Amino acid sequence: MLNFSSANRIQILKEAQSEIFDLVIIGGGITGAGIALDAASRGLSVLLLEKDDFASGTSSRSTKLIHGGLRYLKQMEFKIVRQVGQERAILYQNAKHLVRPEPMLLPIIEGGSLGKLSTKFGLWLYEFLAGVPLNEQKRMLNSIECIQAEPLMDNAIIRGGALYTEYRTDDARLTITVLKTAIKRGAKAVNHASVIDLLYDNGKIKGVRVQEKLSGAEFQILAHTVVNAAGPWVDEIRLKEGPLVGKQLHLTQGIHIVVHHKRFALKQAVYFDSSDKRMIFAIPRDGCTYIGTTDTNFMGDKNNPKVSVADVQYLLETCNRIFPNVHLSQNDVISSWSGLRPLIHEDGKGPSELSRKDELFVSPSGLISIAGGKLTGYRLMAKRVVDVIALKINSIEQRFIPKSQSQTVKLSGGDFIDEQDIIEFKDILCGQAKQVNCSYNKIHEWVNRYGKDAEHIVEIAFALWPEISEKELVPEIAEIHYVIHHEMCLHPSDYFVRRTSNLYFNRENLMSKFEILYPWFVQISQLNNEVARIYAEQFINEIDSAMDFN
Ligand SMILES: Cc1cc2nc3c(=O)[nH]c(=O)nc-3n(C[C@H](O)[C@H](O)[C@H](O)COP(=O)(O)OP(=O)(O)OC[C@H]3O[C@@H](n4cnc5c(N)ncnc54)[C@H](O)[C@@H]3O)c2cc1C
Repeated sequence: MLNFSSANRIQILKEAQSEIFDLVIIGGGITGAGIALDAASRGLSVLLLEKDDFASGTSSRSTKLIHGGLRYLKQMEFKIVRQVGQERAILYQNAKHLVRPEPMLLPIIEGGSLGKLSTKFGLWLYEFLAGVPLNEQKRMLNSIECIQAEPLMDNAIIRGGALYTEYRTDDARLTITVLKTAIKRGAKAVNHASVIDLLYDNGKIKGVRVQEKLSGAEFQILAHTVVNAAGPWVDEIRLKEGPLVGKQLHLTQGIHIVVHHKRFALKQAVYFDSSDKRMIFAIPRDGCTYIGTTDTNFMGDKNNPKVSVADVQYLLETCNRIFPNVHLSQNDVISSWSGLRPLIHEDGKGPSELSRKDELFVSPSGLISIAGGKLTGYRLMAKRVVDVIALKINSIEQRFIPKSQSQTVKLSGGDFIDEQDIIEFKDILCGQAKQVNCSYNKIHEWVNRYGKDAEHIVEIAFALWPEISEKELVPEIAEIHYVIHHEMCLHPSDYFVRRTSNLYFNRENLMSKFEILYPWFVQISQLNNEVARIYAEQFINEIDSAMDFN
């Protein structure tokens, strides 16, 4: 039985007090989740602690692409292009349901930053370095072909273009899936549990003090190594050890806006120039189109990075310039998100010039901090951190720790051979699930979210079927049941934002869905009335803030 139910959170913390873990990880974003998986699959005992929900930081607020590293070419970082390309291929191998090829149109615009020859050569070099397979390699387009590929573009300024391949993902689902895979391999994790202090013995770090948010209860957890993977909060954790020494974080903010697909009916994803020569993505998804991103210095409240009117206007104007008949305005924006890049400060460099490379800092107390990097490179970052820990364990305890296994570990539910296998799996599951009111669309959605783990939701639907009189609700209630008991979902936002992305891509039905489903959510998670009321208020505020620009 997977120990990943929200009902077990307090019990896990209580029991953790009587153990000494090889590794405690602060932060349940993709970096922390990746470290948990790498370490657990090498036999280390691991506890991960997350102050809000898993992926609630930057790892649910990205552009949701698994990049091949094209942007690194501009900065001549050839090694990174190669690495990132390899990582993308590994991820596709291990989680085909979550990481999908997405053809991307790169238009060459009059007066823009891209020329025909430089684009052709740049893409060739990128594909060569990243090892892009033949069937995904670029196709250069003349201006007519380019407009045919995306008729909404302004044909007066298009000089040609290229179609190349990016990969899309769901960042929060990827993070939770990596963590679920770690849990299957013996790791433990608790969300809504904040590390409030570090514990020392003779100047060496020996654990953390953690506060469970719902009850306020505090727990002391001991560990041989503590890893700080707190993303934008990395320096806050480092500050608990004293003034910052050496490199520091430089946070930059990036926002995305969402509009209905019928208002911006892109045929396909486009990556295009803005007026200040930055590049912007517009990506169709789930009946919507999302647009982003920006890159500005950030000094505000990390827990609540607001979307500014100026940033929304910048994205809208950039779209209206390239897609002149669409006439997007702020009224068309149905949702938004804002994320913070935890980059490493470099003197004299602006937000877009800062390297996206990751850095590892080991303090004199032994605290290991990791920051920078990308969603795409999480596995390599994790491997690097665990290699350092393995070396330490080996030299101090003479315990042999095997090499990283993560390259071949299929992510939970990701055991598919190819696209055809996914289609066949969906068909088989549909055949069974019809009896419990699950439509083809529902199964399609679940398999894209949970992969083969969708089978468990169908099993739950069968178990619930005799008990629930509103038969049309059985699929939704089964999914809620699954995420509460198998993905530690505690708060309505955990469900509507990180488990399902409904807040971003299903805005129209969100309130009615919430009203119908929340009583079931409360019942299944056995929240008391007062907590349920507070959570509901918090969630409604979150819905409003996705539309609240300042
Ligand atoms: C706008 C934008 C677009 C991006 N697009 C892409 C993209 O398309 N592709 C890509 O590969 N990368 C992209 N990135 C980069 C990528 O999203 C980040 O590199 C990655 O998500 C960082 O993950 P992380 O785990 O380090 O940080 P986070 O996801 O922020 O995780 C850190 C976690 O630590 C927790 N935490 C903090 N303090 C404590 C504490 N005291 N106790 C317990 N927990 C704590 C936080 O709550 C948080 O959940 C993008 C980034 C941004 C901002």
